[in-house]
Amino acid sequence: MTMIAARLHAYGEPMRLDRIAIPEPRQSDVLVEVKACGVVPNMTRVVQNFFGTKVPDLKIMPPLPAIFGLDPVGVIAKVGSEVRSIAAGQRVYVNPARRCGSCRMCRSGAPLDCPDFTFQGYFGRSQALMKAYPYGGFCQFITAPEDALVRLPDSVGNEAAARFGYLGTAYAAMKKLGVGPGVTFLVNGISGQLGLCAAMLALAMGATRILGTGRNVALLRRVKALAPQRIEVFGFTEAPAGHDGGVATGDQPAFMGWTRKLTDGYGVDALLDCLPPGQPGAAIMRALYSLRRGGRAANVGAVMDMLPLNAFWLMTNRISLQGSVWFTTGEGEEMAAMVAAGTLDLSALEHRISPLTEINAVIDGMDQRNGGFTNFIIDPTRAN
Ligand SMILES: [Zn+2]
Repeated sequence: MTMIAARLHAYGEPMRLDRIAIPEPRQSDVLVEVKACGVVPNMTRVVQNFFGTKVPDLKIMPPLPAIFGLDPVGVIAKVGSEVRSIAAGQRVYVNPARRCGSCRMCRSGAPLDCPDFTFQGYFGRSQALMKAYPYGGFCQFITAPEDALVRLPDSVGNEAAARFGYLGTAYAAMKKLGVGPGVTFLVNGISGQLGLCAAMLALAMGATRILGTGRNVALLRRVKALAPQRIEVFGFTEAPAGHDGGVATGDQPAFMGWTRKLTDGYGVDALLDCLPPGQPGAAIMRALYSLRRGGRAANVGAVMDMLPLNAFWLMTNRISLQGSVWFTTGEGEEMAAMVAAGTLDLSALEHRISPLTEINAVIDGMDQRNGGFTNFIIDPTRAN
């Protein structure tokens, strides 16, 4: 029994479609037939130029040839002999977060804090875990541990579920920030892949006032249209305060004035920074300065710059700043339940579905997107 897998044989080269054996699940693993796999824009950096350095840090990369694909959705085809809670035929999102399972953090129920934390189908801290789970979603069948499976209700489509990586990353951080009724929540970079997810989740979580920044005014207008009564957007320019077709625009002082005006002068309660790699630390700082005294911020967007952060300002304003990575399988199930209940509306996503044979063209063409609205999907059932 064989399958088609897109495999990377050398960094910087296109992936090749190889025919390889369908794996057998170990005792506590399952075999999933992949129906959709999300393609994150950062995948281009990972497989082509390693975050711009052109030199891969091989310690964090999977052994070659490698099968990438971070957000697989599919149907369980087979279960290992000790799997009891789930059966063949169940549709699932596979949480790619792998952990050792036996360190102090894993034992205490904090798998995201495992020193060996590794993404199946992407990169991570443990070569052993990448070897144990070498199948990303850019192939037809993958193995995964039974505790990594988010059961999907019928009303949650494969393509929407393939966005759970970004959604869950935002969601786990937003829970830490206490986003909900009465909280003014600012999303720095609201029209991108992560930021749009944060906006959709904030609506679902009952945030009554959602603020967002960006640069593309047309995209910001589309984000505001999701809920015009609850979402306000600001487009950064080099000019003083202005307006562009209903979108507030301007420079840093204009932005500060805008946030103060929308919060009765206090500043925002909570901030999620969703800016992508390549943005300067100053772009996070200008959002941090909009927090009220006692405000809380979380960073999920993977900006790699230094923050010019004044410790005295942080202290005297009682500001909290937290990094956050990924989400638990339980949090994935909470999101699936929200979609099924109709509180989390993902209908704004535009699914762009391609067969596995197009994987290299998809990875090369990710710049051609409508901000976070475009949802890039590989469907390996269309492999041939
Ligand atoms: Zn561990």
